[in-house]
Amino acid sequence: MKVLKLSAQGLPQSWISLEQAVIHYASDEVRWEVGAQVAVFRGGHNAITGQQSQIVINSIIGTKGVPRINPFMQRPGLTNAKLFARDRNVCAYCGGHFHEEELTREHIIPFAQNGIDTWMNVVTACRPCNHRKSSRTPEQAGMPLLYTPYVPSLWEDFILRNRRILADQMEFLMAHLPQSSRLHG
Ligand SMILES: [Zn+2]
Repeated sequence: MKVLKLSAQGLPQSWISLEQAVIHYASDEVRWEVGAQVAVFRGGHNAITGQQSQIVINSIIGTKGVPRINPFMQRPGLTNAKLFARDRNVCAYCGGHFHEEELTREHIIPFAQNGIDTWMNVVTACRPCNHRKSSRTPEQAGMPLLYTPYVPSLWEDFILRNRRILADQMEFLMAHLPQSSRLHG
C-alpha cells in the first residue's frame, strides 16, 4: 500500500511508502491530509507524562517544500504496464480483452516507416494482431484502430502507475481527470 504525496498546492508528487510518510510527519512537513487513516506508528514514551507518542498516517497527504513535479512540464514516461492500463488491456485491432502477458506495445506508424516511441504512436495489441499488422500502417494493413491513442494527464499517470490504489485515493485522482479519459469508462 502506498500513500499519495501531494504538494501543499495539491498537485500529485509521488507514491510513497508508509515509512517515507512517517518521515514527513515526524519532520512536521505534512500541511494537510485527506482520505482515510491507513496506519498508526507508535514511538517512545514521554519521560514525564508517560504517554506514548504516535503518528497516524493518512492515505493522501499534502506536504510543504518545493514540488518536484511541474504538471505543465511533465510528460508521463511510457511503459508497457501503463500503456496496457491506459488501453484497459483491450487490443486496438481485434477488440479482445487480454492478460498482460499476451499483450504487446504496438507502434501505429512502425519503426520501419520512421514511427516513434511516444504515447501518441502506440496502442495495446494482442500478439497475433501485432504479428499480422507487421511493419505496416493500419491503412496499409487494412486494420483500422478501434480506439485512438492519447497522452495521459499527470493525474491519470498517477492512476496508471499504481496497481493497488485505495478507494479514496482513486476517487481523489479521478476527480481531476478530463471526461475524455478512458479510465472513466
Ligand atoms: Zn488483437
